[in-house]
Amino acid sequence: MTRPDMLQRARSSRGQWDFIVIGGGATGVGIAVDAASRGYRTLLLEQGDFGKGTSSRSTKLVHGGVRYLEQGNISLVMEALKERGLLRQNAPHLVSDLAFVVPSYAWWEAPFYGLGLKLYQALSGKYGFGNSKLLSRKQTLQHLPNIETDGLRGGVMYYDGQFDDSRLLINLVTTAAAHGATLLNYAPVTALTRNRQGWIDGVVATDLESGKQFRARTKVLINATGAFCDGVRRFAEPKAAPMIAPSQGAHLVFDRSFLPGDTAIMVPHTSDGRVMFAIPWHNHTLVGTTDTPIANPSLEPVAMEREIDFILSTAALYLHKKPARADILSAFAGIRPLVKSGDGGNTAALSRDHTIHIDQSGLLTIAGGKWTTYRNMAEDCVNQAATLAQLDEKPCVTRDLPIHGHHPKAARFGTLSVYGSDAPAIQRLIEADRSQAAPLHPALPYCGAEITWAVREEMARTVEDVLARRTRALFLNARAAIEMAPSAAGLIARELGKDAAWERDQVEAFTRIAMNYLPQ
Ligand SMILES: Cc1cc2nc3c(=O)[nH]c(=O)nc-3n(C[C@H](O)[C@H](O)[C@H](O)COP(=O)(O)OP(=O)(O)OC[C@H]3O[C@@H](n4cnc5c(N)ncnc54)[C@H](O)[C@@H]3O)c2cc1C
Repeated sequence: MTRPDMLQRARSSRGQWDFIVIGGGATGVGIAVDAASRGYRTLLLEQGDFGKGTSSRSTKLVHGGVRYLEQGNISLVMEALKERGLLRQNAPHLVSDLAFVVPSYAWWEAPFYGLGLKLYQALSGKYGFGNSKLLSRKQTLQHLPNIETDGLRGGVMYYDGQFDDSRLLINLVTTAAAHGATLLNYAPVTALTRNRQGWIDGVVATDLESGKQFRARTKVLINATGAFCDGVRRFAEPKAAPMIAPSQGAHLVFDRSFLPGDTAIMVPHTSDGRVMFAIPWHNHTLVGTTDTPIANPSLEPVAMEREIDFILSTAALYLHKKPARADILSAFAGIRPLVKSGDGGNTAALSRDHTIHIDQSGLLTIAGGKWTTYRNMAEDCVNQAATLAQLDEKPCVTRDLPIHGHHPKAARFGTLSVYGSDAPAIQRLIEADRSQAAPLHPALPYCGAEITWAVREEMARTVEDVLARRTRALFLNARAAIEMAPSAAGLIARELGKDAAWERDQVEAFTRIAMNYLPQ
């Protein structure tokens, strides 16, 4: 899977693709996996890097969504809990069980949340992750040594799933490619083409590395651009009414001392009526999120001051050792592609269900949903797209399709466990060149061989690709990531044959982005 090969395939394909998918996030790549594994000819084009949008910026939970249960959206919860089970089955190297505790400070909280979480567990049926139970104050403290003790009565423990979002995305890209899909990063779609009947039949895209434009023709065009989907719809219909009410969510990352142990905290009702999590993730503590309606989505959103203040003040209510601004190692934000309900207002209440919309020009747009339900969304979308294109029906096979990297005992690979079945190949790279064995920074486990691997095997092209999405350095510790940038640039340059000026530009460009992850 190399970019030059993908580019050549994207540009030179004679005739029509069955599907062209615009957008290389969870939705688009999920569709590429589904379509290619059914045997449809599939091209996917992503304007930046795979996962550059929301799909690398989630809370990293594979979950049914306790909050949707509260809202009475039982069918969404059941569907997501089933998908949670399928994802753990198909990508066990990346999806794991995580114990959560809802701490209780009022007499009614433990029985109230205990009952709700029993229902949550029951709805998962045979896809369950573990039994929920009530905890005494002492047991709660054993699981959460840094929980605020003042007024603590006990808690309720339940189980959900956790994952590494951009790593799963890259594994899905590889899975789609293995089934014959062509997927190209750094290739924005800038215009759509029509046939004589006015039906959308292709795209104009640009290869950002050469600056050259190319065209590709398709039987159906799928717009899976998340929060950006209204922009693409306007390529087809300049007056198209917006479908999306974008909403920003921010997270803060701290060191492990704020959440020692392996248990996460779930706060079911913050002062703004939302759910908030504190989660152990890659040996750090991840706290979030917020829900702030915004006017226009940005590809590099920045956590707002009021979001940072809100997360810090909510965390301070529940943690004994309270995180301060100076403790923030990274602050990252993402944009939810929430589908409009029509009445505007509070985005926390908008549907998290996905929507498929077909414009009069035949452009199919899919938006909304969650990372957890990407597979089910893709199945739904490909069924509808195949009907629209009058293609032969082919059954969906992704329910039991192993995702690239699938390995039942990946924990044995230590810091390389997220690579699953790819880990031995990275170990061989290390053995072949010991200079790539040591971590590039003392604060993070990532070594040179992982950078080399990402460039050779995972279509990484820039310092940002390797430090933000192939490894998670930027999301875990932005300052460390900035300090790693020159070494990463050197390793990439060696693989891609770039010169010192390229390395300098890359370090500068990455540092500019990474500074936004460091609140002043
Ligand atoms: C703060 C936050 C926390 C979340 N937490 C969770 C969670 O814990 N669990 C969960 O299940 N879900 C979670 N979600 C939801 C989940 O992350 C999203 O539903 C999902 O990532 C959306 O994926 P997507 O592919 O639709 O959008 P994106 O990931 O944004 O992908 C769209 C892609 O389209 C590309 N694009 C746009 N225009 C063009 C163009 N013209 N040409 C080519 N490409 C283009 C963009 O560059 C982008 O990469 C969370 C969301 C947010 C915001």
